[in-house]
Amino acid sequence: MNIFIASANDGKIKEIKAILANNSLNLLSILDTEQLNRLGLSIDQDFDVIEDGKTFQDNALLKAKAYADLTKMPVIADDSGLEVEVLDGFPSVNSNRWFDGTVGERNLALLDLLKDKKNRQARFYSVICYFDPANNEANFFDGEIKGQIALEPKGSKIEGFGYDPIFIPEGFDKSFAELGAEFKNTISHRRKALAKLNRYVLQDKHLEQPE
Ligand code: IMP
Repeated sequence: MNIFIASANDGKIKEIKAILANNSLNLLSILDTEQLNRLGLSIDQDFDVIEDGKTFQDNALLKAKAYADLTKMPVIADDSGLEVEVLDGFPSVNSNRWFDGTVGERNLALLDLLKDKKNRQARFYSVICYFDPANNEANFFDGEIKGQIALEPKGSKIEGFGYDPIFIPEGFDKSFAELGAEFKNTISHRRKALAKLNRYVLQDKHLEQPE
C-alpha cells in the first residue's frame, strides 16, 4: 500500500520513514523522484502549502489535503512545533515562521529570548493527520515530549534538524542532536504520534505488522 508523506522537510521525511520502516507500507515523498516517475507522478520540487491554520491540527489537515489532491494517495501529514513554557507556549504553530534567517540563527534567537530565564521547560508537540482521499476521511494522532531548552546549541547538524540542538528531553542531559536521530526516533513526539497512526492504519487495512 502506497502512502504519501505530505512534507518537503527532509528531516521530517527521514524520521517518518525511519519510524514507520517496520511495516508493509510503502512510504513515498516528494524526494522519491524515481519512484514517482514510475507511478507517472511528477511533482514540482517547489510545491508548497500555505500553512495559515490556527492550530497544529488545521495545518496538518491543510497539508494532507493539498498532497492528497496532488497524488490521489492516502497521505500522512505532520504539523509540529516547540512550545516554551515561560514564553506562554511560543513559538508553537509558528515554530517555522517566527524568525527570518537560518535554522542555526533561529536557535540562537530563541536562546536569546530565554537569556536570564531560569524556567527552561518546553515541549515538542506533533499532530499527524492521516487523510484518505478515497473516502475523504481525516484522522488525527498526537504526541508530545517534555524537556528543557539548553543554554547553548549542542550536537551535530546531521543528527538533528530544527530545534534539536537546543532541546534536552526529560531524563537526559544531552540535546536531541547529541543523542542522535536513531535514539530520538524511539522517544520523540513524532514517534508517539506515529505509533498511534501505525496501530490505526494496520488495524484498518488488516495489514500484517512484522516483529
Ligand atoms: P511545520 O510542522 O512544517 O510547521 O514545522 C515545524 C517547525 O518546528 C520546523 O521549524 C521544525 O524545525 C520544528 N520542529 C518540528 N519538529 C521538530 C523536531 O523533532 N526537532 C526539531 N525541530 C522540530
